[in-house]
Amino acid sequence: MQSGGYVSVNTSGNTLDANAIPIPKENADMAFDAATCIGCGACVAACKNASAMLFTSAKVSQLALLPQGEVEARERVQNMVAQMDKEGFGNCTVTGACEAECPKGISLENIARMNREYLKATLSPGK
Ligand code: SF4
Repeated sequence: MQSGGYVSVNTSGNTLDANAIPIPKENADMAFDAATCIGCGACVAACKNASAMLFTSAKVSQLALLPQGEVEARERVQNMVAQMDKEGFGNCTVTGACEAECPKGISLENIARMNREYLKATLSPGK
């Protein structure tokens, strides 16, 4: 989470009304579903590869799906994937064990979204 699971917002006492930015309902629903991840780690424990991709992808997705999270999306996905690798978690081979064990019903679709976000970030020009 420290490597990118947040948005950098200077509120300075002037917090914007959340409804000031229109967001498609479908995106808001998917972001909300991803945000229900409680970080319990059951997905990692269930995975034969000890992959943390369901957890990480839920955190990447909840922000990537919203305009507020788009600003830092490129850095976020690269930093979070790098941190995941650095900590020695395994890779995803799409067995679905994580999704089956997740108490919050986090979908494998989030892993696909994170992979797309990562590809987009690595193919787009850097800062
Ligand atoms: S099992 Fe589900 S709720 Fe728990 S950390 Fe993994 S994705 Fe999040």
